[in-house]
Amino acid sequence: MNNIIVDLKRVGMSYKVGSRRVWVLKKINLKIKEGEMAIIFGPSGCGKSTLLHLILGMEDPSRGRVHLMDKWLATMSEDERAAHRWRNVGIVFQQSNWIKSLSVWENVAYPLMLANLSQKELKEKAMAALKTVELEEMANKKPMDLSGGEQQRVSLARALVVDPKMVVADEPTGNLDSKNGKKLISLLVNLNKKEGKTILMVTHDESFLKLADRRIFMKDGYIEKEKI
Ligand code: ADP
Ligand code: MG
Repeated sequence: MNNIIVDLKRVGMSYKVGSRRVWVLKKINLKIKEGEMAIIFGPSGCGKSTLLHLILGMEDPSRGRVHLMDKWLATMSEDERAAHRWRNVGIVFQQSNWIKSLSVWENVAYPLMLANLSQKELKEKAMAALKTVELEEMANKKPMDLSGGEQQRVSLARALVVDPKMVVADEPTGNLDSKNGKKLISLLVNLNKKEGKTILMVTHDESFLKLADRRIFMKDGYIEKEKI
């Protein structure tokens, strides 16, 4: 335990907007340890999603280094990064993205398609993940027939099906009412407390801050302060 899972060293990110270069992340130093529950909090446009994209190796930083589980992402090919991400991180976005022709359990099993598993094993793993989010009974429905709150829980099940060390969630409750938002967050807290999963979540709901071990406040591309 207490291994460093995410390590950012003086990370900067800029985009060209017309003829100007705009720095959306500036000198970010951040370490996340195994088993931590960290919340990144800050106003819209301050760079939270960009930061997660860099941590996940979905974009390259303009400056500095990003290490994910001891691997310096800049030294890896796109395919190596995708495999590294797939093995180690479950991702939940604000909006679920479904293969509409597949059932709930088949969508949950989808990240395992590349693993060499039988249909029976795929279903067992999907059902175990659905059990974690308390939605086993929805397994044979189509995702689009579920409520928004249920769909986000299925997204979490899909993120968990590969048994990742870390779950990264970008405003996972952004489209949910407060009751469904709380339910999803309580599942994340359980995963952290009971299974020791590392959780890195972006939110702008202040009521969730108290649940985290670490509260990282961002403003205008900086980490403004951190409250532990
Ligand atoms: P947040 O998630 O905190 O709302 P983002 O990380 O999405 O913020 O965006 C931070 C800033 O970077 C915003 O001003 C956004 O417009 C800008 N930005 C994000 N992606 C791009 C891009 N591909 N090109 C130019 N600007 C971008
Ligand atoms: Mg965002």
